[in-house]
Amino acid sequence: MEWVAAQRPDIADEWINKFCSWVKGGKSILDHMQDIAGLPNHIKDELLTHFQENSQFVDSFDAGKNPPPTQQLQQGMSNDADKKYRAFLVLFYDPVFYKGKGYPVATNGNNDVAVRFHKNSFLKSCHTKNKNVTVCPLCDGSLDGSQVDHWLAKAHFPELSCQPYNLIEICQACNSRSNKGEKLVLDNGNGRPFDDWFHPYLRPAVDEFTIRIQQKGIIEFQFATDRQKKRMENFDALINLQSRWTLEYRTQIKRIQSKIRGKKKKVNLTKDSLRHILEDWRDDAEHEIGLKPNAILEKCVLSLAVDTESYLFEEFIVYATSD
Ligand SMILES: [Zn+2]
Repeated sequence: MEWVAAQRPDIADEWINKFCSWVKGGKSILDHMQDIAGLPNHIKDELLTHFQENSQFVDSFDAGKNPPPTQQLQQGMSNDADKKYRAFLVLFYDPVFYKGKGYPVATNGNNDVAVRFHKNSFLKSCHTKNKNVTVCPLCDGSLDGSQVDHWLAKAHFPELSCQPYNLIEICQACNSRSNKGEKLVLDNGNGRPFDDWFHPYLRPAVDEFTIRIQQKGIIEFQFATDRQKKRMENFDALINLQSRWTLEYRTQIKRIQSKIRGKKKKVNLTKDSLRHILEDWRDDAEHEIGLKPNAILEKCVLSLAVDTESYLFEEFIVYATSD
């Protein structure tokens, strides 16, 4: 216990005592530390290197930097070292981040006024810093009932359980097992494992592709480079964006029809007036990207609809002028 306290003199002893005595499955943090301390030195070195290398994962998104490759923890290390390492980190992070009072951070030398870092304080600061943002950073859908996702899943990268760049607030649908779940978001074993992947903060997808709406509302992604294409293929395999947006397309059409119905009650719509109205709605949607759910797709649908030669304009003008 004294040894642990000596490592972090900036944190109050009382907090460290409580933390070290936390028990799960009959074992405390200290017991887990002792398990690791008892491993042969070369294995401890291996684990330390693994921890330090993976902690640099953010640098891999910067083309100017050349960090060591991020790797999934390998299974079946000698002396079950992988299990011991994982069990220690799970107890180190989970109770304090999810259930406890949080890690003391930003003490500025005064332990009594330490800011606590835990799931709720993380979400609260996301909301305070991005007041208007109510959309999922992965699918652009609603963030209602959002969850904290570990971008690199805890099951594979336990050392990144509380790394701020690895914590992303996403919608339930994206976080579900049929979408992202615990799937890997890197090419494990590759020297540059993130080259073919987006990341919501470090390499956002939003400016990397355009959307084309095919006849009957099938969504198609288009790209300028092969790398963007590969990244989008990986992203789509992760959250099934193409099929989800194809479904969302129908919702958008119904919304626009309902708005046209509202207009129709007030004025007689003509080809010209409908086009102007659709242009206004398209401009509104463009300004609401990132602020209102599904605005990216809404803008695309309306951009197609303002073309009076398009099948969508044909549909809407028939809708607007029929009884
Ligand atoms: Zn989502």
